[in-house]
Amino acid sequence: MSGTRPLLEVRNLRVAYGGIQAVRGIDLTVGAGELVCLIGANGAGKSSTLKAIAGLLPVTRESVRFDGEPVGGMRAFELVRRGLSLVPEGRGVFPQLSVGENLAMGAYVRTDRESIAADLARVFELLPRLRERRNQSAGTLSGGEQQMLAIARALMSRPRLLLLDEPSMGLAPLVVARIFEIVVEVARQGVTILVVEQNARLALQVCHSGYVLESGAVSLHGAAAALLDNDAVRRAYLGE
Ligand code: ATP
Repeated sequence: MSGTRPLLEVRNLRVAYGGIQAVRGIDLTVGAGELVCLIGANGAGKSSTLKAIAGLLPVTRESVRFDGEPVGGMRAFELVRRGLSLVPEGRGVFPQLSVGENLAMGAYVRTDRESIAADLARVFELLPRLRERRNQSAGTLSGGEQQMLAIARALMSRPRLLLLDEPSMGLAPLVVARIFEIVVEVARQGVTILVVEQNARLALQVCHSGYVLESGAVSLHGAAAALLDNDAVRRAYLGE
């Protein structure tokens, strides 16, 4: 939104499930290096928007541009290969596989073995708890650790854009705070991030800008500080 080059441009994005219009023509832009949130009530269409961008739901080609190229409707693995990764709601780690094996799965689109090893070392530096548990099966991790693993696994694909769907889901406040510290650190290291979050206050406190979704449409967008100050946002999403 600021002066940076747009990395993600969404124009008139529509998602329907049979007769239900879940996303009704959304426009949004995420600049390279930005940390942007998408907030809104249950059922507003946040997850559908992320899934559509990530190639998991059918959309028109021109409705999603990644780094200037139309990629709408491209398959998810092709988008991962181009540098666009989704961390899904509910994390989606493979519970029977070890932490190390889950991380190896994250790099499946890559063939550059040496830099994969270097990235693994970087991920373990960011999340030392995962290093300690690298041989443990993912299903035995705590909820917070599983969320860390899901983020780490996505980082192993070397994303330029990371889409995060409700990273705070089901986690205790202290754990949520830690997860958001990690999100901020990942952004600081240069990964552009679009995060869907129920906890609007926390999201707006850490993000540069935000979009508010209502019934499948953008009702407001702007700098996060301005949204935190907006009366309608405060009443509807910050419980004031
Ligand atoms: P939440 O925070 O509860 O996940 P959300 O803002 O992410 O909500 P979506 O999950 O995108 O919202 O849902 C938007 C609308 O689409 C809702 O009305 C929902 O019931 C509907 N919907 C979502 N997934 C499907 C599906 N697979 N089939 C039919 N309808 C769906």
